[in-house]
Amino acid sequence: MSKYIFITGGVVSSVGKGITAASIGTILKSRQITVSAQKLDPYLNVDPGTMSPYQHGEVFVTQDGAETDLDLGNYERFIDVNLTADSNVTSGQIYSAVIAKERRGGFLGGTIQGVPHVATEIKDRFKQLASKSQAEVVIIEVGGTVGDIEGQPFLEAIRQMRNDVGRDNILYIHVTYLPYLTSTQELKTKPTQHSVNELRRIGIQPDIIVCRSDHPISEGIRDKISLFCDVDQQAVIPLPTVSTIYEVPLVLQEEGLGQLVVDKLKLRAKQPDLSRWQELVEHLKTPREPVSIALVGKYVELQDSYFSVREALHHAALYHDRDINLLWVPSEALESGDGDVLLRSAQGIVIPGGFGIRGIEGMIKAATYARENKIPYLGLCLGMHVMVIEFARYALDSTEPNSTEFDASTSYPVIDLLPEQKAVRDKGGTMRLGDYPCQLVPGSRAADAYGQGMVNERHRHRFEFNNQFRDILEKAGMVCSGLSPDGKLVEVCELASHPWMVSCQFHPEFGSRPSRPHPLFRDFIGTAKDTLREGAQPALPLSS
Ligand code: GLN
Repeated sequence: MSKYIFITGGVVSSVGKGITAASIGTILKSRQITVSAQKLDPYLNVDPGTMSPYQHGEVFVTQDGAETDLDLGNYERFIDVNLTADSNVTSGQIYSAVIAKERRGGFLGGTIQGVPHVATEIKDRFKQLASKSQAEVVIIEVGGTVGDIEGQPFLEAIRQMRNDVGRDNILYIHVTYLPYLTSTQELKTKPTQHSVNELRRIGIQPDIIVCRSDHPISEGIRDKISLFCDVDQQAVIPLPTVSTIYEVPLVLQEEGLGQLVVDKLKLRAKQPDLSRWQELVEHLKTPREPVSIALVGKYVELQDSYFSVREALHHAALYHDRDINLLWVPSEALESGDGDVLLRSAQGIVIPGGFGIRGIEGMIKAATYARENKIPYLGLCLGMHVMVIEFARYALDSTEPNSTEFDASTSYPVIDLLPEQKAVRDKGGTMRLGDYPCQLVPGSRAADAYGQGMVNERHRHRFEFNNQFRDILEKAGMVCSGLSPDGKLVEVCELASHPWMVSCQFHPEFGSRPSRPHPLFRDFIGTAKDTLREGAQPALPLSS
């Protein structure tokens, strides 16, 4: 039977609860304990798929095609597992399921209530993941902070779990924030005391408190939190801000969190071996020569919108012993006459996924810039549509080619709705989602990168390359280097006469791991690192 670790947040949001949850996974895995993870999102949307990235950051897609919270990306990268739809539960899903059951007559005669019905439905999701994953430990993170109205049913469910599975099989970890007062130069524990009180009021006594802070946490502060919040002194774990998120497992391990969890849950564990993780972090912290990459997107003001893309770039750079100097370029800014200046210092250009017409012409300009100046280009889903539109405008010598997503009446619809999407009316969960196979053309840059003929990658799109234009674009120099096995859907395209201009219909960023960069990102950075920025002079050979 699985054991459960529930992670709640207090004081403020965005202090790294997700990274803490993921890091606990890393630590337990380093002790040969099998782990799975789940994120509970209290909002009423069924999934984040229909939310703007400004509201929610990136939508992470699982192999089985669920549109989920970006924390699942961190779980996958830190624990190195592939999760499924079972790992993201929202209030929207819970209420829909309860109401659907009521309509089917599942509660005939009964009044449906928060307790027990809603709480039971939530607990069933915990148990479902435990039984499907067969993990020894299931880490479950409750989104939001304690005290949020929408979070109440989830907290009630995790409270009930202690009786359901027994005290030795459950652990509550509360992640809080200690604010620093400049005037008195001290960290304050009162907000933590209040949030723990709030938890206790609903019947949850935390076993461990992880204290986030931008300043060092003294023994005195630990004692105080231990006393007021009624946890062991060694169970107050300081987590000061670190320079890379990948360092968090090491900090928590150093503070004894791994042993504490093993002891409290009475787990059979091996000695921790975090040596490879340690090497990774040391490498990350060693100064490396940067590669300047422009990420041209619509939502660059909120960098969380491109979380996995940014991480995948860093993983790839690390492979080449380089750092990433990421230039966040708002695509709309490229639409004005001299927008190109924003790209001049880039050695590579990435156009990530996205929806809607805003900023598209700016992205197309970035693709023109990449093609004409032979700057490496990586297009991800929308980035592929942009590359195809740009190339078609060049090859057909017309400004008309477009995607019907942006211009429904274009005479050159080089990107068009997938046939199976034509009858789709609902917006939620109806795209072409999750893993699909892709056959690579031998000798292409894509096949070279992967080093294999057939790959599976995660998708999230409604539009595709329009095959009517395949011949004409191929004749002009575009190579359709990845196709669905039936040959009908273009999955990857590249330019024959360019050093590295490759785009894919899928999202390779979701598959990248810190010590296993995705092949396309790896080769993109590999080419970009040797690309001279515009105006840069090659070094003169030293005469002997
Ligand atoms: N908007 C495009 C489509 O729906 C691209 C989607 C994406 O980039 N994920 O096909």
